[in-house]
Amino acid sequence: MATILDGKVLAASIRLKLREEAALLPRRPGIAVILVGDDPASQLYVKNKAKDCEECGFLSRRIDLPDTVSEEEILGILNKLNAETIYDGVLVQLPLPAHISEKRVIEAIAPEKDVDAFHPLNVGRMVRGDSVIWPCTPAGIGALLDAYDISADGKVCVMVGRSNIVGKPMGLLLLRRHGTVIYCHRHTPDLAAMTRQADILVVAAGQPRLISGSMVKPGATVIDVAMNRDAETGRFTGDVCFDEVSEKAAFITPVPGGVGPMTRAMLMQNVLTLAKLHMGLL
Ligand code: NAD
Repeated sequence: MATILDGKVLAASIRLKLREEAALLPRRPGIAVILVGDDPASQLYVKNKAKDCEECGFLSRRIDLPDTVSEEEILGILNKLNAETIYDGVLVQLPLPAHISEKRVIEAIAPEKDVDAFHPLNVGRMVRGDSVIWPCTPAGIGALLDAYDISADGKVCVMVGRSNIVGKPMGLLLLRRHGTVIYCHRHTPDLAAMTRQADILVVAAGQPRLISGSMVKPGATVIDVAMNRDAETGRFTGDVCFDEVSEKAAFITPVPGGVGPMTRAMLMQNVLTLAKLHMGLL
């Protein structure tokens, strides 16, 4: 039976450490979050962010906008937030309504306040390997691997999914850690042939039960990023058949309680890092 990589416990200890570090700074780290519309999942994510900020002793501001808001209005608000020194991080909760360009909005956040690390300048730094912060989900997985002493050095790392927020940066993070990275996606002809090679398998496809026990190498580390809501039960499941795969893997993340809490903790970590940069402490 695999060892469970417990993101919930680790995230709580990280928040405690961040609170202690923040208390020593000349001012409170701060983040401003823009939420457009009333999507229940986004509402919950933003509420959780405010709760995490409170726990870490950070300043947080939430700006609610109706889904009829224009792109120009959002860009105007971002301009003001970029200039306000009390906010170290600025975040726009995604997804945005169809009439607003996510690309333009992301590019309007000042790179030095881009707490999600989605701005093209920060993506470029990530590719080059000298980024100060990483997108929260890959950063959280990196911290989880560190906490359990799982090295990517010399390992075959298979990334299922190539999105800009999870798959692509996660592969880059493993590459930076000297892993041999294989990206898989919808056009990969024989997914199982790839996943069976993985010493570290990270799955972010959003396809329940995509990864069965027979697709996993014995002794592998399996990271399930997905959050699929079961329409009948309302409960979250991952992409990995947990019961089967945990019999073969050496390490595995649960859903929920694995990557999700680490993503939240890394947002706080990124706010603190940007705050230290802005205070000239890094
Ligand atoms: P996305 O839809 O943007 O990307 C999914 C990727 O998976 C695509 O690259 C696609 O090619 C690939 N894919 C889909 N079906 C596949 C298949 N059958 N075989 C191989 N590849 C396939 O999704 P995303 O934003 O990267 O999110 C992925 C999942 O992770 C979702 O379930 C999302 O809810 C979850 N997520 C969780 C967290 C967290 O903190 N736990 C954070 C972000 C996303």
